[in-house]
Amino acid sequence: MKIDFLNLKLANARYEDEIRSAVGRVIDSGRYVLGEETLAFEREFAAYCGVEHCIGVANGLDALHLILRAYGIGPGDEVIVPSNTFIATWLAVSQAGARIVPVEPDPKTCNLDPQRVEAAITPRTRAIMPVHLYGQPADMDPINAIARKHGLRVIEDAAQAHGARYRGRRAGSLGDAAGFSFYPGKNLGALGDGGAVTTNDPELAATLRKLRNYGSEVKYRHDLAGVNSRLDEMQSAVLRVKLRYLDEDNARRAALAGAYAEALAKAPLQLPVALPHVGPVWHLFVIQTPHRDALQAHLTERGIGTLVHYPIASHHQRAYANETWPDLPIATRLQSEVLSLPFATYLQAEHVHTVAQAVMDYFGGVSGP
Ligand SMILES: *Cc1c(COP(=O)(O)O)cnc(C)c1O
Repeated sequence: MKIDFLNLKLANARYEDEIRSAVGRVIDSGRYVLGEETLAFEREFAAYCGVEHCIGVANGLDALHLILRAYGIGPGDEVIVPSNTFIATWLAVSQAGARIVPVEPDPKTCNLDPQRVEAAITPRTRAIMPVHLYGQPADMDPINAIARKHGLRVIEDAAQAHGARYRGRRAGSLGDAAGFSFYPGKNLGALGDGGAVTTNDPELAATLRKLRNYGSEVKYRHDLAGVNSRLDEMQSAVLRVKLRYLDEDNARRAALAGAYAEALAKAPLQLPVALPHVGPVWHLFVIQTPHRDALQAHLTERGIGTLVHYPIASHHQRAYANETWPDLPIATRLQSEVLSLPFATYLQAEHVHTVAQAVMDYFGGVSGP
C-alpha cells in the first residue's frame, strides 16, 4: 500500500461540491477583492476563535509581519521567537526591521520553553512571538505572565493551530494578537494563499485594515504607507465552506494521532507530548529518533511518504548566515531527529497500521494493538 505524506486533492474531495458552488457564487458576484465573502469569513472566523476582530490578509507571513508593524515594532526593537519553527516566524521579525532573539523549546513539546524566556529579555524587547508548533498551543499562561511583568506584547503564530485549545480557549485568542495562515496544507487550508489576524484590540484591528490595503479604508484616501496584502473573495468563500468542517476535521486528526500513539507505544522513539491543559489539533504527527534518516529511507522504500519539519533550523539557514546566533543545541538536535508521519483527514485505521508496522519493522519489533 502506497501512502502519501499528504494528498491535497484527496483531502479537499469531501468538500468539492460545496467549494465549486461557493466559487461559482463569487464568479457570479462580480466582486473579487474585499467584498461580502471576505467580510463574512472575517466575522465567522473571529467568532470561531472567540475574539472581536479578524482581518484577512494575503498569507501567514504577512499576518505576523503586519501585526509587528501595526504595533510600531521595528528597528532597534527585539522580538523573542522560538529557535525551532518554520522560518516565516523569523522572517516576520526581519521584515519589520527588528532583531530576532531565539529562545529554545521544551524538547518534548517542541514549543517555546517559558522558563527560558525571561533570561532573553533586555530593555529593547518589545514582544514575544510563541508558535503553536505542530498544532499544540504553547504554554501561554506563563508566557503571558512574563509579558505582563515586562510590558511586552504577545503575538501568537497560530499558523499551525486553527481550533487548538489552551485551558478551553482557542488559539487566536491567547495573546494580544495572532497570525494565521491558510496555506493549502494547513488545518484550515485555502486553494491558494491566505492569512488572517485575530485580536480583541480594536485599535490594532483598525490599523491592520488600513495597512493591508495601501494604508486606506476610504478609497483613494491613504493614512498610512501600507501594503497590498488582502485575502481575496475566492479564498474567503472556500474558507467559509471548510471552516464549517474544521472541528470535525480536527476530531479526525485527534483520532488518528491517538491511533498512531497506541500503535507506536512500544517503539524506541519519542512520541509527541502534549501538555495536560491543551487541546492540540495535530497539524502534524512528529516523532523523534536519532535514527531519523535511516528510518525515513526505510519508509520511503515501502512507499510511505514522510517529511521533516524542519530539516535546517532557521539559525543554520544561509539567509541568516551573516548574523551571529547563540548556541541553540535543542533546535540543532531537533533538525536531525524529527520526522513527520503521513497525516491527513482521509487516512483510515488501516493506513495508520501499515505505517506503524513499517516503523516497528525498522526497529525490529511488532506494532501495538
Ligand atoms: C505556514 C506557517 C507560516 C507562514 O504562513 P504562509 O501563509 O505560508 O505565509 C508561519 N508560521 C508557521 C509556524 C507556519 O507553519
